[in-house]
Amino acid sequence: MSTNVIERFLKYIKINSTSDEHSSSFPSTECQRDMAEILYKDLKEIGLSKVVYDKENCYVYATIPATDESVKETVGFVAHMDTSPDMSGENVNPQIIENYDGEDILLNKELNIVLSVTDFPYLKDCIGKTIITTDGTTLLGADDKAGIAEIMSMAEYLVSHPEIPHGKIAIAFTPDEEVGAGVDRFNIEIFGADYAYTVDGSSIGEIEFENFNAASALLKVNGRNIHPGAAKGKMKNASLIMQEFISSLPENERPENTEGYEGFYHLLSLNGCVENCTAEYIIRDHDREKFEKRKNLILSICEKINNKYGCCTITAEIKDSYYNMRQKIEPDFMFLIERAILANKASGIEPKILPIRGGTDGARLSYMGVPCPNLSTGAFNGHSRYEYACAEYMDQIVKVLIKIACSINK
Ligand SMILES: [Zn+2]
Repeated sequence: MSTNVIERFLKYIKINSTSDEHSSSFPSTECQRDMAEILYKDLKEIGLSKVVYDKENCYVYATIPATDESVKETVGFVAHMDTSPDMSGENVNPQIIENYDGEDILLNKELNIVLSVTDFPYLKDCIGKTIITTDGTTLLGADDKAGIAEIMSMAEYLVSHPEIPHGKIAIAFTPDEEVGAGVDRFNIEIFGADYAYTVDGSSIGEIEFENFNAASALLKVNGRNIHPGAAKGKMKNASLIMQEFISSLPENERPENTEGYEGFYHLLSLNGCVENCTAEYIIRDHDREKFEKRKNLILSICEKINNKYGCCTITAEIKDSYYNMRQKIEPDFMFLIERAILANKASGIEPKILPIRGGTDGARLSYMGVPCPNLSTGAFNGHSRYEYACAEYMDQIVKVLIKIACSINK
């Protein structure tokens, strides 16, 4: 008996698997294990031969054996089991709206929470379709349980159709993606894919293989505090010196002033007094050269400040976080993008190549040796009570995944 993608999805969103950015354990929350265990069972039930549950680290891996032994490659599919700590994922109570009429959707009458077409105009793209929303009190968990359900349905279809030729297919479900630790303990050998796709995007047809290059910068100013009455020529006010640093960065290169491929400096926190002051920044740019220039600008502003106020007045500790996967995909793996484009077109979907203004597990996997672009899930407004999924999109995405899995490269 086969389970359709929506049934699976509704089952998975009922399981609380919120991750926690403040936790120091791995996985960050125990509840993610509940999800892992169910996925492990479901993969076995589908009839996959090799299913591995790394119980300690909370990863689930599975393999669909090749039906055509002459295919030399193994393509993989990855989705994450956790949901964002930004919003509760407990007691998700989905509302299913069939034949959506394009009007505002009342999520919660008592709390007067409305999913409004004014705020989210792309809701109109789903007119006539089936929309699955929250009841306004939790997130939906479509990010990324829509991706999980779609990969599961793809696997079930391929296992029950051994007459369709394809190579070996690898599947992995990861914990803690939302807290940036999704591939920290990922086992590439068990996974066994030559390249893979994360199924963790949004609107149908989106294909993403460019993300930010990312770094963090910790700035510290050491001031000199002296009684203000006797301060002339002696006091160095750390907070004011930090202000000089901050105002030396270009004002139009902040998150609130940028979009598309425009990079930025983002001030995360600022703490200071006369004696000392610290500022935390993140630096983002799709272009590697511009990314390096951004880091150099921070260092040269520090140098100017030190020339003015004395050596070591300000220090900068810059650490790279992750890089744009484009650098890994463009040289040899553009066929992955080509395959995704063809699979979408063959399913009647207009493909859209978009840059990600963030990072993905796939970006880090790409640098671990498994090039890994991102595909859409058919869900919107992740991390929020306004999250929703479109049933017809999810159905179509299963077909796209099957087509990609069966794009043979001998
Ligand atoms: Zn996600």
